[in-house]
Amino acid sequence: MHNNNNKQNKIWDVIIIGGGASGMMAAAVAGARSKSVLILEKNKFLGEKLKITGGGRCNITNNEPDIHKFMKIYGEGAPYLYSTFSIFGVKNTFEYFESRGLPLVVQARNRVFPVTERAIDVYNVLHKELVKNKVEIKTNCIVKKINKKSGKIISITTNAGELFGKSFVLATGGMSHPETGSTGDGFKFLEDLGHSVVGPTPDVVPIAVREDWVKDLAGVSLSFMKITFFLNGKKQFSKTGKILFTHFGLSGPLILNSSKNIKALLDNGEVTASIDMYPDTTIGDLENRVIKVFDLNKNKMLKTIIKEITPEGMALSFVKIIDFIDLDTKVHSIKREDRRKIVDLLKSLPLSIESLMGYERSVVVDGGVSLKEINTKTMQSKLIDNLYVTGDLLHINRNSGGYSLQICWTTGYVAGISI
Ligand SMILES: Cc1cc2nc3c(=O)[nH]c(=O)nc-3n(C[C@H](O)[C@H](O)[C@H](O)COP(=O)(O)OP(=O)(O)OC[C@H]3O[C@@H](n4cnc5c(N)ncnc54)[C@H](O)[C@@H]3O)c2cc1C
Repeated sequence: MHNNNNKQNKIWDVIIIGGGASGMMAAAVAGARSKSVLILEKNKFLGEKLKITGGGRCNITNNEPDIHKFMKIYGEGAPYLYSTFSIFGVKNTFEYFESRGLPLVVQARNRVFPVTERAIDVYNVLHKELVKNKVEIKTNCIVKKINKKSGKIISITTNAGELFGKSFVLATGGMSHPETGSTGDGFKFLEDLGHSVVGPTPDVVPIAVREDWVKDLAGVSLSFMKITFFLNGKKQFSKTGKILFTHFGLSGPLILNSSKNIKALLDNGEVTASIDMYPDTTIGDLENRVIKVFDLNKNKMLKTIIKEITPEGMALSFVKIIDFIDLDTKVHSIKREDRRKIVDLLKSLPLSIESLMGYERSVVVDGGVSLKEINTKTMQSKLIDNLYVTGDLLHINRNSGGYSLQICWTTGYVAGISI
């Protein structure tokens, strides 16, 4: 329970800095243990990033049943996280939200969403918990400095004055989509407190391409595409799945989860890619299909039948790519070598990769405090006894697919239960 050291200065049992996914979870759990909890958020509302997760649907966790396969996603972080997940894992996430009136559903690639497919409903569960557990919420409150004395944090300086606590949870998030409030303040606080922080770099992030025609496809998403990446003309790797075109380039899970590999290629030279729009069809079969379409439409102009040979949504851009033949040409007079060139383009549409997009577009920012400096059974700092660190501030590699929010639920819960 809280007490006062003088009339003005209340000393909270726990002050949570940052009201995102992990901070809300930590606050709710600590509050449920009858601790006096204050959660501070610089935005007007809590959970602004949580509300846009999964395109507003919130991919709340991942139901990969093989625990080793699941943990492997966290790369070098995995060995540190087994004990954390044994306290609060995927099953517990299901239990936590479902027992509070929000049923979850498993969709493709084991991704889990609320049945309502509304991120706001996830936020509502947590917000209700904060209220129920008498957590005091202070929004529009910017934490500016963390004050340490004799190896312990004693207070924090905010735009609303100095606030005192016995324990502190740092949950200010990383740097992805900084408009949601995660501007990297926590990385600086951690460094000031003596922690070593791996420099943040955008990680799970879309890519920018040089071709202008891509812009016309903004918003179009094509399923079952195979994309192959090349470094200085040499094939590196291929992936098959859904590609989302944007006004700057390519996105979607396939691209996001390849971005780390693409970054490594970009550091080493010229990166190009080619998209196979019909990966399950051989070039010979595809040519036969095109010949059939041409035979049925002999007297039509090429531009009017393009949509018959391209995936849905692609035709408008594809005509821009065909620059070796007049689009008004009647189909019957298209030369065999030009027909072959069209088929080649359908099987390997060339793209040149300019760069990865920045923080503003990234889903995950790689970087944060090394897990070596955190007791992952409690999320307590090994340097400062009364400091706990959660969520995106931790240096844990991961793909998209619900793995980031699961880290927030796990580390938030473990911090909340340990304080
Ligand atoms: C577009 C997008 C979609 C995503 N979709 C998914 C998904 O579907 N599934 C998934 O698993 N992950 C997803 N993620 C990742 C996931 O959102 C994050 O991992 C998660 O939100 C991190 O939570 P957090 O608690 O660490 O920090 P955040 O949610 O970033 O919260 C940190 C909070 O701290 C506040 N804050 C920062 N500095 C201060 C300060 N100085 N004083 C006071 N308050 C401060 C911020 O305003 C913010 O509200 C997505 C990310 C993005 C950007």
